[in-house]
Amino acid sequence: MIDYDFHIHTEYCGHAEEMTVEAICRRADRMALRCIAITDHIYGPDDKAVIQKIRRQAQQARPRCQVIVGAEIDVDGRFDDGRLVIDDVSDLDYVIAGYHYIPTLGHYPHSPDDCPMMPEDFLGLWEKSLLGIVSNPKVDTLAHPGRLLASCVDLPSYLDWALAVFKEAAALSARHQIAWELNELTGRRLAAPLYRNWVKIYQIALEAGVQLIYGSDAHDPDSIGSCACSETILDCLPADSLSSPEDLPAARQWTNPISS
Ligand SMILES: [Zn+2]
Ligand SMILES: [Zn+2]
Repeated sequence: MIDYDFHIHTEYCGHAEEMTVEAICRRADRMALRCIAITDHIYGPDDKAVIQKIRRQAQQARPRCQVIVGAEIDVDGRFDDGRLVIDDVSDLDYVIAGYHYIPTLGHYPHSPDDCPMMPEDFLGLWEKSLLGIVSNPKVDTLAHPGRLLASCVDLPSYLDWALAVFKEAAALSARHQIAWELNELTGRRLAAPLYRNWVKIYQIALEAGVQLIYGSDAHDPDSIGSCACSETILDCLPADSLSSPEDLPAARQWTNPISS
């Protein structure tokens, strides 16, 4: 049983209607989670205003669980160096890098048919951006590693190449103490045969010394703390592969220690 959830969206993102901060806190308490991170999307500089609002509402909700207020910041799709859409992350307790767009095109692909680029061209850009993201000291955690890749190419056809890139990315992530996310929503979207390959991404992370952090990526209250797919992946990994939020370097700046 995972007792935290470190990737939760709110109604402010525009596609998570029932997710008021109060509803999130109530659900987290009902699930007996000890700590959550509310990590709404930041698509651009204007979205930072909502962070203080979320922080205030979380204080007013007075949940039993500890609430960390962070964000899933988009990787800037106009470039191929993995930079985020905002530079100043000082008012965020936790930063997840959301790699959602095809670098330089800024296009959100839903399937390989939807990727308007030759796979080889895409892969070069994907690699360069990914290595940039995991070298950015502002990033605490890489969201859903591999999701963009699986949306843009037939993963099994490019698996060896992709795993070599993940290995390089894992070494950089370990050096910069950037965790990789075990993302439940991505797990749910994966076709069953892909699971075997997905596990390899996390094995590479662990071998390099990268921490794994769980997040539901909930956009509705019932998904908060849901972890069936994440646990399937954890079952294939050594015991104790999942890290706790207080193991993250970012935890040092959180005012109420999670363990208290
Ligand atoms: Zn995301
Ligand atoms: Zn998300």
